[in-house]
Amino acid sequence: MNNILPKEIEKVISLFKELPGIGRRGAERIVFSLLKWPPEKLKFFGEELAALTVNVKRCKVCCNLSEHETCKICSDGGRDESLLCIVEDFIQLPVIEAASYRGKYHILGGKLSPLEGITPDKLKIDLLQKRLSENKNIKEVLIALSQDIEGQATTVYLSKILAIYGVKITTLARGIPAGADISFANSATLSAAIQGRVSV
Ligand SMILES: [Zn+2]
Repeated sequence: MNNILPKEIEKVISLFKELPGIGRRGAERIVFSLLKWPPEKLKFFGEELAALTVNVKRCKVCCNLSEHETCKICSDGGRDESLLCIVEDFIQLPVIEAASYRGKYHILGGKLSPLEGITPDKLKIDLLQKRLSENKNIKEVLIALSQDIEGQATTVYLSKILAIYGVKITTLARGIPAGADISFANSATLSAAIQGRVSV
């Protein structure tokens, strides 16, 4: 079947298709809606997307998204500095925040997966080690990774290499289903798993 759509529209549809949960029809619907916007608004939308590449950086302390060198969470003196929660990605932060967690974070940037070439040097583990050796206020590291095989292997790996820093190392209590991605955990379940965290 010959494609009836202009090439430019096809290009944008292909980009939207790369987003999670959006298939061909969904991408078409989004692009057709955008085409109904006034040209100025569509242009502004494009400029805002482009600005993300310039105005959003990674926090130099925890690797969270940030407008400045240090993110809002790291700069917040009201948070519990003795507790450090290790998460896979910044995607999980809002979920853990919703579970009433008020410590600090470290974003690992993934989970170990030798088959996919994700070895320890690909994650922000060196930055975590540096942080633990420099900041003696950190007393507990809560490893809050998804409970799939990679998450479990990463938890074991981290608990071994972090043992030398003299901090308590904990992980989420049972309640998060095995294999579950914590990005989709509900806040009550996650809150209970944080409260009932167990030593590794
Ligand atoms: Zn930060």
